[in-house]
Amino acid sequence: EEQKEYAEQRAMELKKAKDELEDYSLKLQMSSQYKTDFLANMSHELRTPLNSILILSQMLMENNGDMDAEEVAEYARVVNTSGADLLRLIDDILDLSKIEAGKIEILTDEVNVTEIPQTMRNMFNPVAAKKNLQFDIIMDSNVPPVISTDGQRLQQILKNLLSNAFKFTEQGGVTLQIELALPEKAQRVLDKQTRDPVLAISVTDTGIGIPQDKQQIIFDAFQQVDGTTNRQYGGTGLGLSICREFTRLLGGAIELQSEPQKGSTFTLYIPSRLDGEDSLPLDAQLA
Ligand code: ADP
Repeated sequence: EEQKEYAEQRAMELKKAKDELEDYSLKLQMSSQYKTDFLANMSHELRTPLNSILILSQMLMENNGDMDAEEVAEYARVVNTSGADLLRLIDDILDLSKIEAGKIEILTDEVNVTEIPQTMRNMFNPVAAKKNLQFDIIMDSNVPPVISTDGQRLQQILKNLLSNAFKFTEQGGVTLQIELALPEKAQRVLDKQTRDPVLAISVTDTGIGIPQDKQQIIFDAFQQVDGTTNRQYGGTGLGLSICREFTRLLGGAIELQSEPQKGSTFTLYIPSRLDGEDSLPLDAQLA
């Protein structure tokens, strides 16, 4: 009897070990698939701007007066934006590897929330105009004008979310809304109690939307809804994973609601004080 029990137990342990091993090798296989996809996408993303830079700069070099000034300026402009695209890509990769190595620095500062709308307008009005899209910004009056967080990182998160919103939208537009999160909501998404008000910053678009079964994985590095090399939209699938990691570093969380063909809303919840160590529970704040 005892031997039988022992044998059964061994068999169960073995099965568990086998399952774990299979699980692990599946994960390994998947991660090597990611790498293959990533390298294919990355080469494409690097080659496109580099090709423009090489071709156009050569044309500019060979120009002996047969180009008019307007043409020269236009080519120079494309060379410049292609260089900027490349720099952004490389910065993204560096950020992500720094995050992974735990080497990213968070600099807490007094951040002027009232300046965010103008900064985002300056950045995105041109793309809105070019694609003929609406760009609305709503800021609730009860939002604290100054918060204590890493302004650079916050700006990077918003920039990524907004550039995705504009990229995946062809009709309608994009709305950036800055408001205070309801206390219960803040507590639920941040998974901890905080005395400080929590900002809810949402980016809503009327774009292509994201299927339910992709809504989690797009936050992983190198993941895209359409990851094929002949896909319609460029990009590397790094933006959202950077957003998620930066948001964590700011003590916050990101939520996504989306419906294919209708649009998406990414909501960023961030505490108004990053250093709120001695925070009281929310219910005490409400009392
Ligand atoms: P990238 O945009 O470089 O591909 P991201 O990590 O920013 O990388 O986004 C990953 C994927 O998530 C995108 O490729 C796209 O499939 C999907 N996605 C992100 N934002 C949106 C959005 N606003 N609307 C539709 N799809 C989106």
